[in-house]
Amino acid sequence: MPDATYDSPYDAVVVGGSWAGLAAAMQLARARRRVLVVDAGRPRNRFAAHAHGFLGQDGRAPAAVIADARAQVLAYPTAEVRADEARHAAAEGGLFAVALASGATARARRLVLATGIVDELPDVPGLRERWGTGVLHCPYCHGYEVGDRRLGVLAVGEGSLHQALLLGDWSADVTLFTNGTFAPTAAQRDALAARGVRVPERRVAADVGEAPALAGVVVEGADGRAVVAVDAVFTATRTHLAGPLAGQLGVAVDEGPMGPIIRTDAKRQTTVPGVYAAGDVARAPHNATWAAADGVTAGVYAHQSLALPAP
Ligand SMILES: Cc1cc2nc3c(=O)[nH]c(=O)nc-3n(C[C@H](O)[C@H](O)[C@H](O)COP(=O)(O)OP(=O)(O)OC[C@H]3O[C@@H](n4cnc5c(N)ncnc54)[C@H](O)[C@@H]3O)c2cc1C
Repeated sequence: MPDATYDSPYDAVVVGGSWAGLAAAMQLARARRRVLVVDAGRPRNRFAAHAHGFLGQDGRAPAAVIADARAQVLAYPTAEVRADEARHAAAEGGLFAVALASGATARARRLVLATGIVDELPDVPGLRERWGTGVLHCPYCHGYEVGDRRLGVLAVGEGSLHQALLLGDWSADVTLFTNGTFAPTAAQRDALAARGVRVPERRVAADVGEAPALAGVVVEGADGRAVVAVDAVFTATRTHLAGPLAGQLGVAVDEGPMGPIIRTDAKRQTTVPGVYAAGDVARAPHNATWAAADGVTAGVYAHQSLALPAP
């Protein structure tokens, strides 16, 4: 597509072409609106070989699901998808101007941010190369596949207690590695013991095994080092918004349980009229289904804001 096309404004530009962005674009395209999806191709779950829990797609490779979704969006004649990165976005003369890394600028009457979030992994040697395989973020996404195996939780704070208690429904062999991040109270110890969770209060020095699989966790204390055999470790991450667009546009951002999230109303509109946000970038908790559902909401209401008189 020649860049000259961008002289004519789109009804909507959707930044991010994954679960949330394609779901938003699908609604706009089905409403026969011109929509451009710009996608840098780095979805959050690209580290996992399989995606679980998304109805009709359970267990498929995430990239395959997204490729199918992209093809289905592109079947609508008013939809375009461009592999590119939005570097700058600003309101400009009643439109939103989105400057792309390729040098083109796309203009649109509405903007949907579906840019996702970036995980900041705990700083444990060996963890990064196992992310999405031996080291997992969410039992609802990947717990079933490691059911009845030896499971660990690498604590990042007191909130990790919750994850350790939950995991008792996936395995009777759960170890909570507090890693010096918090000391369980007597009541918390009782709750963990009631679920059969072990709590070695030692520091975690490394993850070991043939990456990306995991064979164990090296713990160290005053009495030296030891390897605790585990087949998978769950851990929570801190997250940050992907890219600078939210800041450039001046949308309000709140602090969520894992990191910042863009504030939206029930229609998924941000605090800047005409700018919508959907998916991980604007919610917690996260999964692909919620992201797609939010994308539908943003797409439908972005369309209605174009089609109906202002309230
Ligand atoms: C390891 C792992 C495994 C997971 N497994 C599952 C699972 O099995 N099931 C499940 O339901 N959920 C799973 N999740 C959660 C799931 O990945 C997210 O909830 C989901 O990806 C959110 O979708 P999204 O569309 O909001 O963002 P993303 O999927 O992260 O997509 C955002 C897209 O926007 C693009 N983008 C960002 N900035 C720009 C820019 N400036 N210009 C252009 N494009 C841009 C990115 O490159 C990316 O393609 C997993 C998460 C992780 C970390």
